[in-house]
Amino acid sequence: MNDPNEQAVLSEVPRQTFELEECGFREVPKKWRKFYRHWEGPGDELGPNEIICPVCKVVIRSKREIRVGDRLYCMPCMSRMIVVLGEDGTLQTDVTY
Ligand SMILES: [Zn+2]
Repeated sequence: MNDPNEQAVLSEVPRQTFELEECGFREVPKKWRKFYRHWEGPGDELGPNEIICPVCKVVIRSKREIRVGDRLYCMPCMSRMIVVLGEDGTLQTDVTY
């Protein structure tokens, strides 16, 4: 029971991973298109691996579940941001520059 590795496993639940497919986002080079998509407005739902760029409102998509403390880069508007927990309990982002 005192195995330190076991402790580490318990404190960090493995993240879900996702297969990304292109969603027709053409504002970045082809290689990167699958990491972004357009927000479709009210009714659109973000997956656990998606977050909206607060600057340009594009949806940034990750291959793994997004968690607080993650650093993300929005290629379309070149913003860097860190994921924080919003007042309403949802994931938000703070732009770092
Ligand atoms: Zn952006």
